[in-house]
Amino acid sequence: MNKRILSFILSVVMIVTLIPAVAFAQTDSTENNDQDEIEQSILEELKDQDQPSEEKIISQVTLTCASNVKSTQGGTIEGMQPGQTTSFVTLANGETREFAITPGKGFRISKVIVNGKSIGIVNKVSLTGNGEAQSIYVKFKKQGLFIMLDAGHAGHYNRGIIRKYWESKMTWKLTNYLKKELESYGIVCGMTKKSQKHDPGVYERGLKAKGYDLFISIHSNYSDARGTDYPLAIVSSKHKKKLYKKAQPLGKKLVKTIRSTMKTRQRYQVWVKRQNDGRDWYGVIRGSAAVNVPGIILEHSFHSNRSKCRWLLKNKNLRKMAAAEAKTIAEHYGYGKQ
Ligand SMILES: [Zn+2]
Repeated sequence: MNKRILSFILSVVMIVTLIPAVAFAQTDSTENNDQDEIEQSILEELKDQDQPSEEKIISQVTLTCASNVKSTQGGTIEGMQPGQTTSFVTLANGETREFAITPGKGFRISKVIVNGKSIGIVNKVSLTGNGEAQSIYVKFKKQGLFIMLDAGHAGHYNRGIIRKYWESKMTWKLTNYLKKELESYGIVCGMTKKSQKHDPGVYERGLKAKGYDLFISIHSNYSDARGTDYPLAIVSSKHKKKLYKKAQPLGKKLVKTIRSTMKTRQRYQVWVKRQNDGRDWYGVIRGSAAVNVPGIILEHSFHSNRSKCRWLLKNKNLRKMAAAEAKTIAEHYGYGKQ
């Protein structure tokens, strides 16, 4: 075959092969154009839909609470669930809503920041939905005295010399009376137990004092010697000197009060007890010390003593005791009746 014929055949083959390729390429590009147009029109349609419904654009408001004790105690912003630190509220565009700020008991509002700007101490913030995310941040500060109360034991625990007496029943009653009395001075009280039967571990009870100013655990004592009759305070040890310095003087005042109220035969006592590692021996005090809170265990004489057991069985006496102890505590911290 000569070169001319060969090149002719090759040209024909190439043309035959290329034609459909070009044709396909054209088809492809046409389809692409169509696609673009369709997409474009969808976008335009979307735009059209967006415009008249602009009022529907919603803005989200983030409500944030902070406090230096427990986020659940600091206070609330209207629209915020108690116990939460952050909440979201949705406002329609143009909708105006007022958010009331309510400090919790023993707290005050210390800072209000709206959309990143501090606006001073206010108890109401008004926001209008503008399609953008907005925020209200409130900081609460403690301004009162906070005491965590612990009713010793739970259920039926530590029977007295008089069979119907249970230490665990007395402590629940006395602690509740004490809470009421302390609150009448404007002192904020927490309880380590949710109910009489609730029985958290001793160390855990102490830990619950976190953020509080004082921890008190209420008990009555036992001795094999029936005549034993004295009140006892076990206070935070010098393991953390600051805690001892705070707990010891008040513990001493409280046992004096218990002695004069119950008229015990023997003198009051104040103890500290430490483990080998230096930390407090009693779990509740060790727990409160772990969260840097001074702790006091109060033993209301002995339920192994018949006359004292009888005394502790009477609600009237427990009320009297609660009032006397609350007065001692309030005076110690310089609080007057409200
Ligand atoms: Zn006890």
